[in-house]
Amino acid sequence: MNNNSFRPNLSVSRLPRRAALGWGVAATAGVILAPSVFAAAAKRKVVVWSEGTANVDPGSKKVYPNDINTAIADGLKPLEADGWEIVTASLTQPNQGISDDLLNSTDVLIWWGHKKHGDVKDELVNKIVKRVKEEGMGYIATHSSHFAKPLKRLLGTPCSWREYKADGTSVKIIVKDPTHPIAKGVKDFSLPKIERYGNPFAVPKPESLIFDGIYTKPDGSTAPGDMGMCWTIGKGRVFYFTPGHETYDDYYRPEVRQIFLNAVPWAAPKK
Ligand code: ZN
Repeated sequence: MNNNSFRPNLSVSRLPRRAALGWGVAATAGVILAPSVFAAAAKRKVVVWSEGTANVDPGSKKVYPNDINTAIADGLKPLEADGWEIVTASLTQPNQGISDDLLNSTDVLIWWGHKKHGDVKDELVNKIVKRVKEEGMGYIATHSSHFAKPLKRLLGTPCSWREYKADGTSVKIIVKDPTHPIAKGVKDFSLPKIERYGNPFAVPKPESLIFDGIYTKPDGSTAPGDMGMCWTIGKGRVFYFTPGHETYDDYYRPEVRQIFLNAVPWAAPKK
């Protein structure tokens, strides 16, 4: 997980796999082509960004000692076998974690933020929105990132929920659209604790509400809650996943990891 691999240029990096293999054959036949160029040509890149607060605040540091970007990235490791490079990025880094070079070579950007939405520079948000709308980069927002600038700009609505309660609520997550690629291999499952985000969610009607859910409040009463949905915005695909509060272990759970493993290739620009 690093950002050191050399990427020759966009056209080479976006060659379909068959073409990339062709280059490999050409290389073994004696055409001068550095191995690193061939390796880079086959790769796609997912960047997992978080704001660098989950590994600082005492309540969440116990759960995410290396921050949430690392926990999500660890869950994506199986994608490496399919040619994906997994990069972590943080608001605390230079360029707020996302240099132009990194953004321009990213196929899918995953975003987790909570307390520092306002610190993210509008200039960076503009670039992210442009990459999604005009160039087809995939964008995945999770939990409190519903209120981060990029999702609000992409969807063009307030992206607010009716209520927010971290009061011991549990949830059953229900697969509503089992034929959707993001639901592949995922069955209904429960999370013992969730921060309740009460419907309605002020977003455009999604292409698919892939997951919805039933919250059970501490008093035993229940309430519906949307858990995962997607849109196409310009040329780019966007997925939002509701769970992921920083003091709960959602991003280590196998069902949640499967959803992210499905969502990244789904959101990637089509070749
Ligand atoms: Zn939360």
